[in-house]
Amino acid sequence: MDTRTGLPVVGMVGGGQLARMTHQAAIALGQSLRVLAAAPDDGAALVVADLHFGDHTDLTALRTFAKGCDVVTFDHEHVPTDLIRALAADGVAVHPGADALLYAQDKRAMRERLSALGAPVPHWRPVSAPEEVSAFGDEVGWPVVAKAVRGGYDGRGVWMLGADDALPDVELILEKRVPLRRELAVLVARSPFGQVAAYPVVETVQQDGICVEVLAPAPGLAEDLAVAAQQLAIDIATSLGVVGLLAVELFEVDGGVLVNELAMRPHNSGHWTIEGARTSQFEQHLRAILDYPMGETALTAPAVVMANVLGGPPGGISLDERLHHLFATDPGAKVHLYGKQVRPGRKIGHVTVLGDDMDDVRARAARAARWLREGRASGPEGK
Ligand code: ADP
Repeated sequence: MDTRTGLPVVGMVGGGQLARMTHQAAIALGQSLRVLAAAPDDGAALVVADLHFGDHTDLTALRTFAKGCDVVTFDHEHVPTDLIRALAADGVAVHPGADALLYAQDKRAMRERLSALGAPVPHWRPVSAPEEVSAFGDEVGWPVVAKAVRGGYDGRGVWMLGADDALPDVELILEKRVPLRRELAVLVARSPFGQVAAYPVVETVQQDGICVEVLAPAPGLAEDLAVAAQQLAIDIATSLGVVGLLAVELFEVDGGVLVNELAMRPHNSGHWTIEGARTSQFEQHLRAILDYPMGETALTAPAVVMANVLGGPPGGISLDERLHHLFATDPGAKVHLYGKQVRPGRKIGHVTVLGDDMDDVRARAARAARWLREGRASGPEGK
């Protein structure tokens, strides 16, 4: 507890853009986020006053960091569960806890648990020997999807395997390649009291394994399917005992949805909520882990689009000049930059546009993101 303000101290392990944006939400709640960063140029390390440095796999560093925190939470999923258990045994409130976080760290455990809960998932199998891959591929059709059990993100750790392809040398699960129509995501928050709040279902548009756009609400999604997807996410959060945010990434297929992935932290598919929902995901995460009542999740406009800003090719006009032009041509576009050094393909920020017409809002968001990336409004193909 901060004795000066009488408000809680939240510690976040990891100093990336999620911690940076959670800090913004903490400020409005009268708090100052404490961050355990790895390097001085981490996105949150550049802006947080209560800053600690240390490795998230070092128990001593975690213990020192947790001292004086009312709650410890995460901006990534890489803290080993045995260290989280050690902190909890010290009496630290850690949210989400190790028993839940496991399912965001280990794809095999996640698939096993979701299958046991009866949640719809792609047909899958763990694999321990190469012969099992050919048997699985012959059964479900080639190519099959191989996924690293641990450590994958942004499509790294996912391979489409043909019958003659060599197996990546990591622990894998296999999945049937499902004919997905599009990808959806549902974000829910759950408090220790057990209150849950679900955001509207969104469409996530992926390119090369990276989420490039999020459309809220998911265009054309039937109301009954949207409600079923929200209920599914709430059921998963409740069954796994998640405290904080849970992002459930879904595949839309003929006749329903399948669960692809779980994340237990603020998520890229929820950045649109900063301007596009009554309560941002970052505030909601803080409310949930502090056991405050949840905030309203309703949209603030009929159509909301978030587009990620990726680092573009070197050269061209400065980012400062790009911002100047963007603000001149689209005063409604809201820009969030993460203080990162620009590298081609790296997520350096996002833009959010709100409006009445999804096509119009989407075109504006795409234009703004492309402009910030490349310093020009149209692509090589002249679109
Ligand atoms: P990561 O954890 O790296 O984000 P995902 O499991 O989300 O990996 O997979 C990355 C992308 O690969 C997905 O967004 C989807 O486009 C594709 N993909 C993953 N699993 C399947 C599958 N079973 N069938 C078809 N496409 C898939």
